[in-house]
Amino acid sequence: MSLTLQRADLLRTTFPVGGDWREAVSGVRYEIEDPALAQAFASVPDGDARDAQAALDAADAAFPAWRAVPARDRSRILARWNALLLEHREDLGRLISREQGKPLAEAIGEIAYAASYVEWFAAEAVRAYGDVIPPPVRGRQMLAVKEPVGVIAAITPWNFPAAMIARKIAPALAAGCTVVAKPAEDTPLTSLALAALAEEAGVPAGVLNLVTASRANAASVVDVWLADARVRKLTFTGSTPVGRHLARASADTLKKLSLELGGNAPFIVFEDADLDAAVDGLMAAKFRNAGQTCVCPNRVYVHAAVHDDFVARLAARVSVLKVAPATDADAQIGPLINLRAVEKVERHVQDALARGARLVTGGQRLPALGPNFYQPTVLTGVDGSMELSCEETFGPMVPVFRFEDEHAVLAEANGTPYGLASYFYTRDVRRIARVAAALESGLVGINEGAVAAEAAPFGGVKASGYGREGARQGIEEYMHLKYLCQGGLD
Ligand code: ADP
Repeated sequence: MSLTLQRADLLRTTFPVGGDWREAVSGVRYEIEDPALAQAFASVPDGDARDAQAALDAADAAFPAWRAVPARDRSRILARWNALLLEHREDLGRLISREQGKPLAEAIGEIAYAASYVEWFAAEAVRAYGDVIPPPVRGRQMLAVKEPVGVIAAITPWNFPAAMIARKIAPALAAGCTVVAKPAEDTPLTSLALAALAEEAGVPAGVLNLVTASRANAASVVDVWLADARVRKLTFTGSTPVGRHLARASADTLKKLSLELGGNAPFIVFEDADLDAAVDGLMAAKFRNAGQTCVCPNRVYVHAAVHDDFVARLAARVSVLKVAPATDADAQIGPLINLRAVEKVERHVQDALARGARLVTGGQRLPALGPNFYQPTVLTGVDGSMELSCEETFGPMVPVFRFEDEHAVLAEANGTPYGLASYFYTRDVRRIARVAAALESGLVGINEGAVAAEAAPFGGVKASGYGREGARQGIEEYMHLKYLCQGGLD
């Protein structure tokens, strides 16, 4: 099936290096699959170390001129990019749905979310103030000024093909950095379209360079950037094992790092919670992108006093979710990204059932729709011995744990190496303060399931990594402070 876009030129099948849209040096291409059909529908160049080198040389050459562009003008370019993203949100949404599988309305929503970061950092570009420091001695002037770090490398995952790359590139360009980026192998088309619109918005040649590569070539591309001291910062969203590897490999050149890694979010419903609000919050947080987000609740703890009531309300909502390909206008849950993802959900469900969990709803693949579809599922009677309690499921499955004691549930909630998001529902103000302080995570949703926003700092603690994206702090990740001390003024 072909992909029809209003602007056919947004389907880019080469990558931009130094303003030149090109094939890989090797001439090799690899295929991109539609997860709904598990069939290839497009191909892109399979870059390798030579392409990575060319991209880095272009970014390095473009840096002096780009950092010298007045912040006001960089801001205007970003504002134009934001406007173009919104203008073409339908086409971009179609690209996301096709290569990633999420329903079209959700994909268009992702474009608005991605654009919000571009809008935000267009405004932050002109506010990267430094400090005038009161000198401790006479005759001195002391300033702390912010400067772009230099060339940055961005590596992104497949679950938000537009948002993940936009929230790295936008602050980098706002700060005056130039970029080399490798999008996820499964979803390169959206990022290529974003780069085409960035060029149209006026981002100069060489400022934003992308290299697409298959999984087999991912490391050979990124290794070039890791080894080269000209890359001053690496920003990565993906799994914890790859994040650890990148951190180790960045040690020799002492790069600045932002690592947004895996999560294993707890969602706690206390006995005094507004249960309808808690179910709404869980539905929003859990089933976005078919459960494939790093802030998705992975472990739901419900107080024994409200457990059965909560599970009944939840099951009523989950069992009527419409599972369908993105092409279906009513689709709420699309396919998972690939068969490996389906097998993981299936493994977690089977393991839990074998250890005594109860299946409330779902629990099956949906082969009539395609190989990658899985029913939204609710399990009860789960406990800490099951695989689903320690490993992120990354699919449409809700395991419900029963608890009785606040102290004990907090210990369980924090009993994971991860610390990205957590959520809880209660109406007790003192408990809100206590639990919010006790949860070990970078984000906490309090009576709220949808927490991410461009205006807020996004990022984790513990094995979920470090660094923050969005918010006023987001641009700092791409800048360093230079202290200027002028003496002899008295
Ligand atoms: P996921 O499990 O979601 O695919 P990964 O951490 O494996 O998460 O992948 C996230 C990104 O990291 C992708 O762009 C992928 O190509 C890239 N990646 C994976 N392995 C490596 C590696 N060894 N070196 C550099 N990049 C890698």
